[in-house]
Order: sequence, then C-alpha cells, then structure tokens
Amino acid sequence: MPEKLDCIVIGAGVIGIAIGRRLALAGREVVILEAEPNIGSHTSSRNSEVIHAGIYYPENSLKAKLCVAGRELLYRYCEDRQVAFQRTGKIIVATSAADLPSLHKYAAQAKANGVNDLKWLSCNDVLNMEPAVRCEAGLLSPSTGIIDSHSFMLALQGELETANGSIVCRSRIGNVRVRDGVFDVDVGPDSPYTVSCGYLVNAAGLWAQDVARNMTGFPKECVPELHMAKAHYFTYQGASPFKRLIYPIPSDGGLGIHVTIDMNGCARFGPDAVWVKEINYEFDADRKVDFVDAIRCYYPALDEERLSPAYTGIRPKLSGPGEAAADFEIQSYDDHDVKGLVNLFGIESPGLTASLAIAEFVYRKLFHVT
Ligand SMILES: Cc1cc2nc3c(=O)[nH]c(=O)nc-3n(C[C@H](O)[C@H](O)[C@H](O)COP(=O)(O)OP(=O)(O)OC[C@H]3O[C@@H](n4cnc5c(N)ncnc54)[C@H](O)[C@@H]3O)c2cc1C
Repeated sequence: MPEKLDCIVIGAGVIGIAIGRRLALAGREVVILEAEPNIGSHTSSRNSEVIHAGIYYPENSLKAKLCVAGRELLYRYCEDRQVAFQRTGKIIVATSAADLPSLHKYAAQAKANGVNDLKWLSCNDVLNMEPAVRCEAGLLSPSTGIIDSHSFMLALQGELETANGSIVCRSRIGNVRVRDGVFDVDVGPDSPYTVSCGYLVNAAGLWAQDVARNMTGFPKECVPELHMAKAHYFTYQGASPFKRLIYPIPSDGGLGIHVTIDMNGCARFGPDAVWVKEINYEFDADRKVDFVDAIRCYYPALDEERLSPAYTGIRPKLSGPGEAAADFEIQSYDDHDVKGLVNLFGIESPGLTASLAIAEFVYRKLFHVT
C-alpha cells in the first residue's frame, strides 16, 4: 500500500502555496508537490504584480468577490509580514470621446462590486497628477497597488513550513486514481512512486486541465476547455514618467497595454494578448510596433528606443477569442461528486490579488465550513 497523507496540493504557484498554508494553519498535514525545481516558476512569476481593486468583473462573480476580499487580506498580510508593496493607485484613462461610455460602465461595475473609492478626473486633473498622460477623462482607483510577488510566495512558504507543511519540488503528478475517498497519486518523473491522500487540490495552473483529465474515476465532462492568451512586457529604461499605474480601456483577452511600476520604481508596459495553442515563453520582439501605437494613445511622448523586451506570461483562460471573459471555476464535491477533491481552472488575473481569499474559499469547500 502506498504511504497515506492527509492533504496533497498539486502545484507550487501562488495559489497552491496559499492553499497549502491555509490548510496547514488549520492543523492539516499538507504536502505541496511541484513539477519544477523552484516554486512560482510559471504564471506566478510572469504577471503584472498588481494588487487589483476589483473593478472590471461581473457582480457576484467569483472574480469580483474573491478579488475585493483578497485585496484587503493581501494588504493586511503585506503589512503584517513585511512583504514589499505600495498603494500606488491607478488611473483608467479614456483616450477618446468614444472611450467615455466604457469608463462610465466600469465606474458602475466597480460600485456594484463594492469598490466605492473611485474618483472621476477631468483631463486637467489627470495632467496635474500625471503630466505625461493625455486623455479625455480618467477614473482614479486609490486602492490599486503593487506587490513583490516572489517575497509574498516566500512569506507564505515560510508560514506553511512553520506549520509543518512542506513543498517537494521536481515532483510531477502523473495519473491519479480515485477510490473510496482516497486518491492514489503517481509522482515522477525521476524515481517514480505512488502516494495516497484523503484530500487533493489541483492548483496546476496552465496544466490543471491535463491533471484533471489524468484522474481515473473523475468525470471528464467536468473539465472545461483551456484557452491561452500570451502576454509580452517591455520595460522602459531610465526614470519612470509616471507615479501611478495608467490603464487604457480593456481590450479582447486582457486589460489593454498599460503601465505598471515595479518595486524598484521602473516603468513596465504590457501585457498585450496574443491567442496561442502551446506553452512557450519566447519573446516576439516584433510586438513592439503594436506596443508603440497603443502606448502613444495615452503617452504621446513615448521614446520607443527606451523600450526593451522584458518577459512573457500566458493567461490560463476559460473563454476564447471574442467571447465574454469567463469566471474562475473552482470545482468541489457539489460540482463533480468526488469527495475531498477541489480543481481550480482558469485562475488568470486577478488570481494573485485574490490568492488568500481563494485559499479560504477552497478550505471551506473541502471541509464544509460555512
Ligand atoms: C500576463 C499576466 C498578468 C497577470 N497580472 C496579474 C496582476 O497584475 N494581478 C493579479 O492579481 N493577477 C495577475 N495575473 C494572474 C496571476 O498571475 C495568476 O492568477 C496566478 O499566478 C496563478 O497562480 P497559480 O498558482 O494558479 O498558477 P502557476 O503559478 O502557473 O502555478 C501552477 C504550478 O503548478 C505546477 N504544475 C503544473 N502541472 C503539474 C503537475 N502535473 N505536477 C506538479 N506540479 C505541476 C507548475 O509547474 C506551476 O508551478 C496575471 C496573469 C498573467 C498571465
């Protein structure tokens, strides 16, 4: 018989580590199994590192609820655990009169989601705050910020380990067999072995669908289709022309090519959204032409020579090109009839912001805590 553990979490991205920490703090025995040699090697280290306010998502969606709740938990966590963050604020800009209805739509959506601190800005207000930016009007979100996501993951890992949980890297999950409330989990690829557990959480990000399809005894019709949208980021060499994050109106697949500022105060433009069929982080430097056009709409003084390729990421999405953005899918017993199993699908943005709230949600689903 294989060794029997209490809880296994598949994947040591920010979501898996946050869930593992939550389970360990509740006194559960937890092991997180990660395929890569290091934690956070995929989407969790290839994102914008923005703490989102919760503006864009449909009312009552998981994205809206978990982002608004998670943002507050995250700010408190960063303060308590000395994780580097800043409440920079962000301005969403309408760069033409045609954008104004969208800005009004987002103001109303934010209110419906409980984001009550947005402020309307005239074009002169924006000029006074951000002299480099040109627009018709703006919406200021004071509760948007930035975070050092790697420090955050390390802080979560520290708490997990203090509570006797552990992360085992270079451990790729293969087949999982579901039998009588127990999961037999094949781990490889080197020195393969099988371990059993009573509770299993699939937080494998871009591979969550593959992991679920490899579960014998799990209803495959519950696995949603994965769509992937690749993102490129360019850094802007030299001093940042902006103090706050500047976002245009969202476009298909993403939030539009915006400016974020990293914890060192450097400006970074991106992400774009290119629909892809395979996971490949190669940087396509030809994307620069589209970046320059998009950025000049709100920053006409852009010096394109200062743009340098930075990195790429891939969004694990549940909606395809031209479709309305899909919600997170966090499936538990009520959805698939398998006791002790939670699968997380489509955990794209705002997953980093929502991570602590997602962890709480998963804990409650697993142990039927109301
Ligand atoms: C371009 C981009 C920008 C974003 N910007 C923001 C933002 O500004 N703010 C925000 O809140 N959110 C943002 N997000 C979303 C956020 O980054 C994600 O929601 C979050 O990182 C998802 O974490 P994860 O743990 O689910 O996935 P991952 O970080 O991908 O972790 C999954 C882990 O599972 C492991 N794994 C996969 N298969 C197996 C297997 N078979 N066995 C063992 N391990 C396995 C992988 O190696 C990986 O380490 C952004 C996302 C993208 C793509």
